[in-house]
Amino acid sequence: MTDLKRRSLVKAGVASTLAMAASPGLLRGVSAAPGKHRVVAERPFARIVEVGDGVFAVVSTPLDSDGRFAAPQTLCNGGLIVGDDRILSIDAYYQPTGAAWVNEQAKKLFGRPVSDVICTHLHLDHTGGLAGFQNGEIGPEIYMTAATWSMMVEQYSRASPIEGSPFLAPPARLMGPTRVIEDESTSISMALGGRSVTLLPLSGHTPSDLVVLVDDLPITFGGDLAWWGLFPNYVDAVPSALAPSVARLMSGGSRLMVTGHGGLVSTDEMEPYAELIGSIDTAAMQARERGWSAEKAGEAYSMPASTSDWGFFNPRYPERAIAAWFREWGLSSSGV
Ligand SMILES: [Zn+2]
Repeated sequence: MTDLKRRSLVKAGVASTLAMAASPGLLRGVSAAPGKHRVVAERPFARIVEVGDGVFAVVSTPLDSDGRFAAPQTLCNGGLIVGDDRILSIDAYYQPTGAAWVNEQAKKLFGRPVSDVICTHLHLDHTGGLAGFQNGEIGPEIYMTAATWSMMVEQYSRASPIEGSPFLAPPARLMGPTRVIEDESTSISMALGGRSVTLLPLSGHTPSDLVVLVDDLPITFGGDLAWWGLFPNYVDAVPSALAPSVARLMSGGSRLMVTGHGGLVSTDEMEPYAELIGSIDTAAMQARERGWSAEKAGEAYSMPASTSDWGFFNPRYPERAIAAWFREWGLSSSGV
């Protein structure tokens, strides 16, 4: 989501869904049980909850009660994984203010700042805050795939005019990686001191997504391959890869999924999300058979019953999802 401010919202849907994120008692899934996870820090834009020993989810709550993006400082969900030697942040949030707040909480709770940041994918709601982790000459190692960095440069290095200024401004205070993952064909183990995580390269939400699995606890950080309570964004999706990646995330036993947006959920309970993705696949294939445009197919689309109460960051997300399939098939959005 790169231009959230300009996007309209389905007010009630988004507000109610992110209100769920703001009220753990209303969340579905394992995180839903009131009091199940201890809240260790809270601001209007996010809360940090302990989901396992030394593992924390940052759950963003960017919307006010009217469904406006009142508090986009963090915007995405992420987290902290604390080892004896290193503290890993999953993603960097939307604005430096959000990342700096998470970093301050790490210092307060564990006596040291974040030492490493994994960027799960290129989008600014996960990378726009990177600069917030830097403090003078002290800053974390920043990990992303080579493909992610190249897409960030491609998408976010174009600058727009500022009224009354001779300068142009890019869309965010961009920061690049200090560590690049070139080979996406294999997973990578990362030692944090007394514990480790596995970085699993997948694709589907974008051409290059990273998932982080905690090795000693059944907890997965799915990035934007996993959404809960909100219709996913397909703006850079590779739809043919999405369902297989989601199936992969749901396999391998029950784990807590820290999603990229919306609530936390057990992998055992993610079937409605898989169904939702399947319904888009079906709608796109039907549209192609019928010669419909993505717009027409998006208007005709209805959510599966199991996700009918889910919200939208943008009411045109189904159309964009179908358009993503068209893109992959080499068709224009008009279906030809
Ligand atoms: Zn996102």
